[in-house]
Amino acid sequence: MTEPIIGIDLGTTNSEVAILRDGQPHVFAEDGDPIVPSFVGLSEDGRLLVGKAARNQWVLAPERTIKSIKRKMGQDVKVRLGDQEYRPQEISAMILRVLRERASQQLGVTVTRAVITVPAYFNDAQRQATREAGELAGLEVLRILNEPTAASLTYDPTHRELRRRLVYDLGGGTFDVSIVQSQEGVVEVLSSHGDTQLGGDDFDELLFKYICDRFQEDNGIDLRDNLVSRARVLRAAEAAKRQLSSHPFARVEEEFIAEKEGQPLHLNLEISRITYEELILPLLNRTMDCVQRALDDAHLTASALEKVILVGGSTRTPLIGQMLQERLGQAPHQEVNPDLCVAMGAAIQAGIIGHQDVGAVLVDITPHTLGIKCLDESEGFFNEYKFARIIARNSALPASRSDLFHTFRDRQTEVEIDVYQGENDDVRRNHRVGRFMVQGLAPVPAGNQLLVQFDLNLDGILKVTARERATGLQKQVVIENALAHYQQEERDEARERLDRLWLDRSPAYAAEEDDEEEESEDAEEESTELMPELAPGPREGQREAVQARALLEKADRLLVRVSPEDRAEVERLMERVRTSLTDRQWDRVIAASNELADVLFYLEDA
Ligand code: AMP
Repeated sequence: MTEPIIGIDLGTTNSEVAILRDGQPHVFAEDGDPIVPSFVGLSEDGRLLVGKAARNQWVLAPERTIKSIKRKMGQDVKVRLGDQEYRPQEISAMILRVLRERASQQLGVTVTRAVITVPAYFNDAQRQATREAGELAGLEVLRILNEPTAASLTYDPTHRELRRRLVYDLGGGTFDVSIVQSQEGVVEVLSSHGDTQLGGDDFDELLFKYICDRFQEDNGIDLRDNLVSRARVLRAAEAAKRQLSSHPFARVEEEFIAEKEGQPLHLNLEISRITYEELILPLLNRTMDCVQRALDDAHLTASALEKVILVGGSTRTPLIGQMLQERLGQAPHQEVNPDLCVAMGAAIQAGIIGHQDVGAVLVDITPHTLGIKCLDESEGFFNEYKFARIIARNSALPASRSDLFHTFRDRQTEVEIDVYQGENDDVRRNHRVGRFMVQGLAPVPAGNQLLVQFDLNLDGILKVTARERATGLQKQVVIENALAHYQQEERDEARERLDRLWLDRSPAYAAEEDDEEEESEDAEEESTELMPELAPGPREGQREAVQARALLEKADRLLVRVSPEDRAEVERLMERVRTSLTDRQWDRVIAASNELADVLFYLEDA
């Protein structure tokens, strides 16, 4: 056997080690975990700790733990650990040694050669320090490779034609964005920008502050004052942040987090993705400025980019993908696990050096977007065929995502969940993979929230769960072949169906206006429509607007029954709703709608 060459991503927060096997990169994991946290520490009894054990003690024993040593690489400084002082490359060497041993153990041979990655902006001194760290760990460093180049190698490493890619890398503690150009195996970083003090840890801090502030408001106790509760909340904040990447809400629950007048206090707080996104938006805007600067420095416009690649755990935050798509006009790729992408690329480079054949990384992804049909309103028109995307195409499997919807009618007790796959905004152009009814919803006013969750596994089996938020009532179905590709026949059939529908189309709202009163009321009873729960921003107020318009329709119908004195009052309220709608004053829309709804309630029963 030729001597193996490993690829190492020596990160600020986390590190990984990989090797190329049969043309494919393989990341070495221990107990199923491929990540070695880049932490070094001493235990209470003076034992050296590297990785997870060191990270776990960091919050409680920062004086005995070193984190983010990468930030000091290349500097003429020393760090203290116990009663000794070390140079940064010595601390990095301890991490590299653990990675090297992990690979050696699993391969059954002693590994002595490696490719190690560094940020594109590292200068000579920083690169030299990294090389030295490798040597101290018993490794001959065959190549110091730029991280964005490594990431780019995982996506089609062997193409010949000129390609320029943007690599957006947001990890735990650092951010950088680079433009990588490659042609016929020659790879070059054209430009690179970033912020060495910005990362997912800052998101944790913002959430942590938000949670502590809420708790203090409610209980008058500052959780920051106690080291243990501080550590617990910080950990809970990080977990909530991850949860919010795939779900619209996260609940932070910590029992007995504090004590007041002898009574235990529990932390129990729900955080919405919208709130979280508002917290981190200023930081993300900063990263977008860097994206623009990297393009400017490379003298390129977004249209010159063949791909946009996401690297680093924090890029799982959906808002990042949305913002990049808006700015660059294309959906970014994250099919290759963003945590492992750089290590895999280092392994591919190691394979190339060792003259192995390399192939593009194989990933299991969903080839089509999966979502449900819902009702949408924009500029006064209703569209009952809106495709609400839940799992986006090219998501790596297994994937679990949920989104929030709400009922459209007052006292709507059932909804139909119609599951589609495809890429069109109109479900009629997509392919239906299943449907089911959820019955027995609480007979409350329109706006009853339902959480729809999709869990898609590697075999293409999709579990769809719909849950009424207020009551917890839920229904679930399993769709066996959710990833089946369109058959030509089905495609033709879908097209024909669409053509037929197109011929006898009529806007949903117009049909309703023409209906007799009784018919409309029946429709209300049977309505199974769902609306997407909307975030503030461009679609702000959409939900209020839809509900207000539905209310106005209802008021119009009921006006015939109203006595002349009441009529003036109803018309005055209707006018207030209309004016606030025109002014897009959502608070006033809600206030006026509530008043109108109260009056209509009495009229209906009269
Ligand atoms: P890295 O330095 O690339 O390993 O990235 C680590 C950072 O990614 C940490 O701040 C993690 O909290 C963050 N992270 C990991 N998974 C997720 C996720 N699902 N959503 C948001 N951030 C995540």
